[in-house]
Amino acid sequence: MAETEPQVSQLFRGDRMVWVSPVSLEELIQLKTSHPQAPLVMGNTNIGPDIKFKGAWHPIIISPTRVQELFKVTKTPQGVCIGAGCSLSVVKALLEGLVQEIPEEKTEIYRSLLQQLGNLGGQQIRNVATIGGNIVSAYPNSDLNPVFAAGNCILNVASKRGRQEILLNKDFFVGFGKTSLKPDEVVLSVFIPVSRQGEFMRAFRQAPRKENALATVTTGMRVMFTEGSSVVKELSIYYGGVGPCTVSATKTCAAVIGRKWDEQTLSEAYTQLLDEISLSPSHPGGQVEFRRSLTLSLLFKFNLQMLHKLWEMCLDPSITFGLIGLETNMVTFSGCHKNVWFFFQAVVKDQSGDDPVGRPIMHRSAISQATGEAVYCDDIPKMEGELHLVLVTSTRPHAKILDIDISEALQVPGVVDVITSKDIPGKKFRTFTGIDEDILAQNEVSCVGHMVCAVVADTRNQAKRGAAVVKIGYEDLPGPVFTVEEAIEKQSFFLPKRMIEQGNVDEAFDKVDHIYEGAIRLGGQEHFYMETQSMVVVPSGEERELKVYLSCQHPTYESIAETLGIPSNRVSCHVKRVGGAFGGKVTKTSIIACITSVAAWKTGRAVRCVLERGEDMLITGARHPVLGKHKVGFMNNGRIMAADLHYYANSGNTADESLLVIEKILLHLDNAYNVPNLRGRSVACKTNLPSNTAFRGFGVPQSMLVTENMINDVAMMLGCNAEEIREINMYKEVSLTHYKFEFDPKNLLRCWDECKEKSDYDRRRKSIGQFNQQNRWKKRGMATIPIKYGIAFSDGFLNQAASLVHIYKDGSVLVSHGGTEMGQGIHTKMQQVASRELHIPASLIHITETNTSAVPNTCPSAASFGTDANGMAVKDACETLYQRLEPVRKQNPEGTWQIWVNSAFIQKISLSATGYYRGHDLHMDWEKQEGQPYAYYTYGACCSEVEVDCLTGDYRTVRTDIVMDIGRSINPSVDIGQIEGAFIQGLGLYTMEELKFSPSGVLYTRGPSQYKIPAVCDIPLQFNVYLLSGSDNPHAIYSSKGIGEPVLFLGSSVFFAIKDAVAASRVEAGMVGPFTLDSPATPERTCLACNTPFTQKVRRYHQPVSSCSLPQPITLDPNPSMFAKLNMEFSCCFHLTDLQT
Ligand SMILES: Cc1cc2nc3c(=O)[nH]c(=O)nc-3n(C[C@H](O)[C@H](O)[C@H](O)COP(=O)(O)OP(=O)(O)OC[C@H]3O[C@@H](n4cnc5c(N)ncnc54)[C@H](O)[C@@H]3O)c2cc1C
Repeated sequence: MAETEPQVSQLFRGDRMVWVSPVSLEELIQLKTSHPQAPLVMGNTNIGPDIKFKGAWHPIIISPTRVQELFKVTKTPQGVCIGAGCSLSVVKALLEGLVQEIPEEKTEIYRSLLQQLGNLGGQQIRNVATIGGNIVSAYPNSDLNPVFAAGNCILNVASKRGRQEILLNKDFFVGFGKTSLKPDEVVLSVFIPVSRQGEFMRAFRQAPRKENALATVTTGMRVMFTEGSSVVKELSIYYGGVGPCTVSATKTCAAVIGRKWDEQTLSEAYTQLLDEISLSPSHPGGQVEFRRSLTLSLLFKFNLQMLHKLWEMCLDPSITFGLIGLETNMVTFSGCHKNVWFFFQAVVKDQSGDDPVGRPIMHRSAISQATGEAVYCDDIPKMEGELHLVLVTSTRPHAKILDIDISEALQVPGVVDVITSKDIPGKKFRTFTGIDEDILAQNEVSCVGHMVCAVVADTRNQAKRGAAVVKIGYEDLPGPVFTVEEAIEKQSFFLPKRMIEQGNVDEAFDKVDHIYEGAIRLGGQEHFYMETQSMVVVPSGEERELKVYLSCQHPTYESIAETLGIPSNRVSCHVKRVGGAFGGKVTKTSIIACITSVAAWKTGRAVRCVLERGEDMLITGARHPVLGKHKVGFMNNGRIMAADLHYYANSGNTADESLLVIEKILLHLDNAYNVPNLRGRSVACKTNLPSNTAFRGFGVPQSMLVTENMINDVAMMLGCNAEEIREINMYKEVSLTHYKFEFDPKNLLRCWDECKEKSDYDRRRKSIGQFNQQNRWKKRGMATIPIKYGIAFSDGFLNQAASLVHIYKDGSVLVSHGGTEMGQGIHTKMQQVASRELHIPASLIHITETNTSAVPNTCPSAASFGTDANGMAVKDACETLYQRLEPVRKQNPEGTWQIWVNSAFIQKISLSATGYYRGHDLHMDWEKQEGQPYAYYTYGACCSEVEVDCLTGDYRTVRTDIVMDIGRSINPSVDIGQIEGAFIQGLGLYTMEELKFSPSGVLYTRGPSQYKIPAVCDIPLQFNVYLLSGSDNPHAIYSSKGIGEPVLFLGSSVFFAIKDAVAASRVEAGMVGPFTLDSPATPERTCLACNTPFTQKVRRYHQPVSSCSLPQPITLDPNPSMFAKLNMEFSCCFHLTDLQT
C-alpha cells in the first residue's frame, strides 16, 4: 500500500482573495496572528451565505479543516471535551453514545443539547456546521449557546499568547455576532461537564417550522436543588431570540435562588422575567408580544418538568400529581413517523392488460428527475458567445424616473450592454385583461422590485456587478399605497369591481334570528417553484428567427414577437419541462422573456436569464392577499338565510390577471352551500407592492376561506360544531348556483359522508373532547371541509388545444401537444391516451418537448384543464391515425403494429396527423350575473385533526383523510400525487407561509431562511387519500376530472382544526364565541389567540406603559395598523437575512 503523503499547507490565490489551508495548530495560530480578521472557514454555513447573499468579502480565508487538534474528543469523568471542528452531526452522535454509556443523572446537559440538536437546521446543515463555528458565530438565536451558557461549559482557546479557558457565560456574548474572543484567538474545543446530583437541565425552542428554521425563542435552563430539598441552590437561564445575543435572565435567577421551587416563587419569577427580558416595541425581527409570551411559557414548561422531578423525588409533599397534570409526562406527536395511505380506483373488469389508462403508471421522468439527469432550462449547455442577463429593479415604491446612468456599468469588465425600454423595437408594454403594463419601466416606477433595465455580460457575476452600479435617479411620488385599507381609503382600484347577488339579501336580514359580522385576512403566498424563472434566447442569425428555451406554463412566442416587432412565425418556444410553476409562470415569465429577447435581439447573441431566488421572490409577485368581510344572517337551527361577503384583493402595482382572480373569487363564494340570499362583491386593489398573479386555485382558496370562516362563526355563535352547520347548509339536490348554473351535488355529498366515515369523525370528535378536558396546555381540534371546484377557463376561448402525432417507419410514435409538463404528469397521461387510442404499448410512444413550431397557438396549462384539453387533442390525432391504418390492418389482420406501419408507408398513407379539441363554450355575463363559467365541478372533502401546544402555538397535524371525486382517474398515482402536493401547499398557505414587507414596501422574505414552506416534518402523521369510486364525468376525457388546483383549499382543514383547538383553549380562559384568527395560523397567531395566562400577563404588563396596542413589527399585508404605526425599517441584524440554502 502506498504511504500516505505528508500533509502540507496549501495556498490558492485568486484575483480578489487568497485561500490558505494550514495543517498544524502552530501554523494556524501563526496565520491568525498575521491575519486576525481572516475568518476560519469550517462548515461555511455562516461565512458562505454572507459572501453569497450579503456581498461580504474577505481578502484572506483560512481553512483549518486539516488541523487535527480541532477534531479531538476527550472523555473524562468530569465531562467531555469536543474539538471545535467537529460537525454538529458528529457531536450529536457522540452525545447520543454518552447518554447510553453513563448514568442518566449525569447526562442532563447532554440531553438538553441533544434536544436542540434534533431540530437545529436540517441534517445537511448539521453534517457540515461545526460546534466551534456555531459558538463563535454568536447568533442571537443560536440554539446551542443558551445551553452551553446555562450548563457552565468552558471554551479552550489558543493564540500566540498561549492557551486559556473561557467560561461560556453572559460576559462571553457581547453583541450581535460578537463574543469576547480576541480576533487572533482560535477555539480549540468546548468542555461540557456531566451534571451533578440534584442538578436538572432542559432546553426548549420555538421556531416557525420544526426543521431548518432558526428559533423565534430558544432557551437553556438549569437548576440545582439543595440536597434533599426543593430549595434552589443554583439557577441559570439563558435565552436566544430576545436580544442581540444570547442573554441571561440573571436577576430572575437571583430572585429564585435560596427559595423553594413552588408556585409562589415561580409566579414572582414570571413577573421578574417580564421586567428583565424587556423587548422594545421596535425589537428587530418583531413578534414582540409573542417572544415575550414565549419567555414566560418556556419557563413555565421548565417549571412543570421540575415539579414533576420534585414529585418523583418526593421532596415536597405540597407537590401533587394533580398540580403537575398529565401533560408533563405526555409523549405527544413529536416524532416524524408517518403513516401514509392512498386508495386507487380499480379499472373496469374487462379492460385489456395492455391499456394503461386508469392504471397507476409511474411519472415518465420520475427517475431522471430523482437522479438529476432531467434537463431543466439552466442545464442547457452554454452556447457560443452566450451572455447573461441580470435585471435592475426599483428601490422606490413610487417614483418618477429622472435618469438612468449606465456609464459606470458599461465600464465593468465583461459587461456588453444595458437594455432599457428605449431598446425595445416593438410594443413596449403587455396588455392583460385590457390594462397595459410596461415591459421595462419607462417614466415611473410603482413598486420596489419594478424592472427598470437589464445588464448583459459575459458571465452572471459580471452582469451582477454591472447591475449594482447602474444609477437610477428618482423623484419620489407622494403617498404610496401598500395595504387594501389604504387602497380603499384612496379608492385605488383596478376596475371594474364585481358584484353578484341571488335572492334579496337586505330583506332576508330582517327576517333572521341572528346576524353576525366578521372578517378574516389571508396573506399572500410565494410560488416557490423549485426552478426559478429561467430562459435562454438564441437568435439564429438569419431571417430574424429566434429560438426561445424557457420554463413556463404558456409558451409565449406571441408576446416576444410583438415586443420585437416581428411576425410570430419567427419565434419558436421550447419547453422541455418546468420545475414547478403553480400559476407563477404565465404572465410573469412572458415579460421577462420579452426583456431577454430584446437583449438577444440587440446584441445578436444568445442570452440566458435565470433569476436567483431572492430576485424571483422580489420581482414576480405572489398569490393575492385578501381581506374578506362577512355579514351573515341565520336561524336558531343553523340555517343560513342570508350572507353578504366583501373581498378586497391586493393586486400590487399592475393588473396582471387580478380582474379574473376577483371574478373567480365571486364564482366560488358559495363553496358547497345553498344560501338562498347571497351577495358577493370583490375589488382588485392597486397598491405599490410587486404585482400579484395567478396561483394554484386562482382566488378560490381566498374566497372559500372567507365562506368557511363565516360558517365557523355561525357555529361558534350557536355553540355547535362547524360540521353541523356545514351539513345543514350544504347543497342537497339538483340546484342552481348563485350564477344560475344547474348541477347535481350527489358526489359532493358522497365525498362528505365518506370522508366522515373513513376518518371515523364521530368517535374521534368525542375523544378530542375528552383529551381537551384532561389537558390544559395541549388542545386538539378537528375540522372537516368540503369543496366544489369549477373546472376549465371561464374565458371560453381558452378551452381549446391541439396536438401533432407522428408515426415513424420503425413503429415508434412521437407526440407533441400544447400542454407543458410542470411535474403534474401531463406527458405521462398523454402517453397513456396515445397508447389506448393507437392500441400499442406506452413504451413505443415518446412525448417531445412543448414546441410552438410543432403545435402553435397554445393556451396556458392552467385552470386544472391541461389534461382535459390536450388529452382530447392527442386522442383526436391518434384516432385519425388509427383510422388511416384500418385498411392495412384489414389486409393483414395477423400483422403487427410495425408491419402495419411499414405497409402504410409503402401504400403512401400519411403517418402524421394533427389533433384538435374545441372545448366547452363557457361564459359568464356579469351584467346579468349569470352564465356557465365552468364545464363541471370536482368535489371533495377533507378531515384534519391537529394538536396545538397552547404555550407556544406549535401544532402538529395528527391525521388527515381526503376523499376526492375526480371521476375515473387516468392515472391514479399521478393524481394522488397532485392531491397530496396541493393539500400540503394549502397547509403552507393557511398555517405557515408569511410574506413580510417593510413599512416602505420592501419585501423582506426573499429566501428559504425567511420564508417557510412546509417540509417533510409537516406532513400529517397519518395521511389517507381516497378516490371516490363509481364516479363518471361525461364532460372530460375518459370520464376523468381536473385535479391540479381544487385540493389546495382543503389545506384549510388544518387551519380550522387549529382554530377549533384554540377555541378549546380560550374556553379555559373563560372566552366563548367567535374570534378572529387570520391566515396563516402561524405559531405566533395561534399562541396569542389561545390567550393563556402568559399571553394575558404580557398584555397586562404592556397596558399601563402605553395605551396604544402593541405595534406589530413586520407586516403580512394587509394589516392596516402595522404600516401606519410602525415607524421603523425591519432591521436585518437579528436575522440570517438573505441567507439561502
Ligand atoms: C440553513 C441554516 C439553518 C440553520 N439553523 C440553525 C438553527 O436552527 N439553530 C442554530 O443554532 N443555528 C443554525 N444555523 C447556524 C449554524 O449552526 C451555524 O452557521 C454553524 O454552526 C456555523 O458553523 P460553521 O462551521 O459552518 O462556521 P463557518 O461559517 O465556517 O464559520 C463561522 C464563523 O466562526 C468562526 N470560527 C469557526 N471555527 C472557529 C474556531 N475554531 N475558532 C475561532 N473561530 C471560529 C469563523 O471565523 C467564522 O467567523 C443554521 C445555518 C443555516 C445555514
